[in-house]
Amino acid sequence: MSDSTSPQTPQWGMVVDLDRCTGCEACVVACHAENNIRISGEAEAAQGRAINWIRIERYWEGEYPNVSVKFMPVLCQHCANAPCEPVCPVYASYHTPDGLNAQVYNRCIGVRYCGNNCPYVARQFNWFDPHWDAPLQEQLNPDVTVRMNGIMEKCTFCVQRIRKTKEQAELDKRPVRDGEIQPACVQTCPTSALVFGNRRDPESQVSRMAKNDRGFKLLESLGTDPAVTYLKRLN
Ligand code: SF4
Ligand code: SF4
Repeated sequence: MSDSTSPQTPQWGMVVDLDRCTGCEACVVACHAENNIRISGEAEAAQGRAINWIRIERYWEGEYPNVSVKFMPVLCQHCANAPCEPVCPVYASYHTPDGLNAQVYNRCIGVRYCGNNCPYVARQFNWFDPHWDAPLQEQLNPDVTVRMNGIMEKCTFCVQRIRKTKEQAELDKRPVRDGEIQPACVQTCPTSALVFGNRRDPESQVSRMAKNDRGFKLLESLGTDPAVTYLKRLN
């Protein structure tokens, strides 16, 4: 098993450039399709029971008619000091050596302490069993578990893509290349607002972007040490 302190073990992370995000929600749709996320109707959404692993927050400025809107994609921040982990009574929420906050669905008993303790509201509870109208069930991703009623879930940084790319690199006897792992949201973003990579590699694109003067972390003062860095808008 890899050791999180070894310089060879990557620490996965993301950079979100707010200046590039147009709020189109292509990332939200891609995340749903990739991760077999349950589709919620209008009534469920009105009850606050819709599930999204990444959401686009909107911030309005000004008074009508001089109004502008700013967008912020929010997903699990894969905190190094994750408040969701120590509160889980069955160790369903845990940290992987490569810096992911992971969830073991088969352990989860649905007490939702983790969701209560996440300051980013990144964790989502399944109030219902999933259902896809035909023929949508034909497009489920075989690499991702379908979660049932009573289970907590959230962004995994598309761990199935990370593992698949790592296994291929091992077969090829080479390291994973910078930019080779593309989570679904990153791959789909039409403006390249989302960038994914190894934060431990100082030459990776995420490491170089994170050093930008515009860089900040969400709710940094809480000490959660997120793996996601945001770049402020220029205007
Ligand atoms: S953002 Fe929330 S769910 Fe994700 S690691 Fe941090 S506390 Fe846990
Ligand atoms: S990294 Fe994967 S799971 Fe996380 S928000 Fe993006 S598409 Fe969804």
